[in-house]
Amino acid sequence: MKISIDSLKDSNEFLNTLLDNITSAIFVTDKDIRIQSFNDSFRSLFYKDEDKLLGELCGNAIGCIYTVREKANCGSTSNCNNCTLRSSLLSAFLEKVPTHRSILKREFQIKDRIIQKYFQFSTRNITFNHEDMVMVIVDDVTEIHEQKKTLDEKNQKLEIINKQKNELIGIAAHDLRNPLSVINSFSEIMLEALEDLKTENLREMLQILKKTSHFTLQLLNDLLDFSKIESGTLELKKVKLNYIDFLKANILQNEFFAVQKNMKITLEASVSEIPLVFDPRRIEQVMNNLLSNAIKYSFPGNKIKVKVTFKNDSIATSIEDSGQGIPEKDLPYIFQPFRQVSVKPTDNEKSTGLGLAIVKKILDFHEGKIMVESKPGEGSTFTFYLPLY
Ligand code: ADP
Repeated sequence: MKISIDSLKDSNEFLNTLLDNITSAIFVTDKDIRIQSFNDSFRSLFYKDEDKLLGELCGNAIGCIYTVREKANCGSTSNCNNCTLRSSLLSAFLEKVPTHRSILKREFQIKDRIIQKYFQFSTRNITFNHEDMVMVIVDDVTEIHEQKKTLDEKNQKLEIINKQKNELIGIAAHDLRNPLSVINSFSEIMLEALEDLKTENLREMLQILKKTSHFTLQLLNDLLDFSKIESGTLELKKVKLNYIDFLKANILQNEFFAVQKNMKITLEASVSEIPLVFDPRRIEQVMNNLLSNAIKYSFPGNKIKVKVTFKNDSIATSIEDSGQGIPEKDLPYIFQPFRQVSVKPTDNEKSTGLGLAIVKKILDFHEGKIMVESKPGEGSTFTFYLPLY
C-alpha cells in the first residue's frame, strides 16, 4: 500500500489539532520523567512557554513546590518519595501499571504565584519508535474540591445545629408536659367534683390553673422568641429614644413585682438624657429578664440597683442585686439555653432556663454584649453594653 507524504502530514496535523482541543492537560514523558510532548491545555494550565517544557523534568516543568522550595530537580527533593505522580510514572515504566484518576494535592508555582491545586490524573503506557513512554492526562479539579470542602463544612454545621435543635425540642416538650398535665388534672377534678367543691377550694384551684397556664404561656413565648432568634428571622425595630426615660418606665413596671418580695429598685445615672438607637421592645425584654432574675434569685430586703455609665463607644447598664450570687463553676453555663444551674428561686417562682440565652441573643443582634460578676452570698451584677453610635 502506498502512503503519500501529504496524507501522513495531514493526519499528523489532524491528530495534533484534536489533542490541542481536548480540555484535559495531556503530556508525555520518557523514562527519565522528562517531558517529550504536550497539548495546549497543558501549557495553559501551567502557564509555561514551549521551550521551558520540552525535555524538562516533570516537576520542574509544572512548578512543583518541592522543586521550587528546595531549588532542586524533580526526583531529588526530600519529598519526591511521597509524590503520587512520580510513583505512578515509575510504576507505569517499571511494572506497566496504569493509574486511573488518582488525586495530586499540592502547591504549584504558576505565573510566579504559589497556588494550592487538586489535580486528577491518569497514566497510560505508550510505545513510539520502539521507545517506552507514558502519557499523563491531568484535570484541574481544584474548584470542585473547594466546593466539596465548603459543602462538607456546611453539612457538619447543619448536623450540629440539627442535633442542638432536637435536644431543645426534647427539653421544651418535657418542660411543657408538667404544667399541661397540672392544668389537665385540675380541670378534670373540678368538672367531676364541681357540685361538692367549696368556693374556697374552687378559688384555690383556679389560682393554680391561672399560675400554671401563665407559666406555660411564658415558656411558649420564650420558645417562640428563641426559635425566631436562632433561625435569624428576628427583625429589630430600632428607634431613637431617650434611654434614661425608657429605663425609668421599665423600672416602674418591674417595681410592682419587687415590692411583693419587699425589694426596691433604684436607678443611678449621671445624666438625665441619653439619646440612643435601639429596639425598645427587645431591650425591654432584656431588662425584664435581668430584673426578674434579680428579684427571683434574692431574698426579701434585697436592694437592686440599675446603674448607667458610658464605656468608650457604648452605654453600660448594670443590674446589681444583693442576692444569692452564682458559684464560679456555674457561670460558664448560665447563658446557654435551658441551663438552670445550682441557684434556685427563693419563693418557688418558675424558671425556664431560657431567659439569659434570649438576653444574650438580643444583645448580639444589637451588636452589644453582656458580662456577669457574681459572688455566692454577696450578689450578682449583670452588665450589658449597647453601642452608642
Ligand atoms: P431562668 O431564670 O428561667 O431559670 P435564666 O436563663 O434567666 O433562666 O437564668 C439561668 C440560671 O442562672 C438560673 O436558673 C439561675 O440559676 C441563674 N441566675 C440568673 N440570674 C441570677 C441572679 N441574678 N442571681 C443568681 N442566679 C441567677
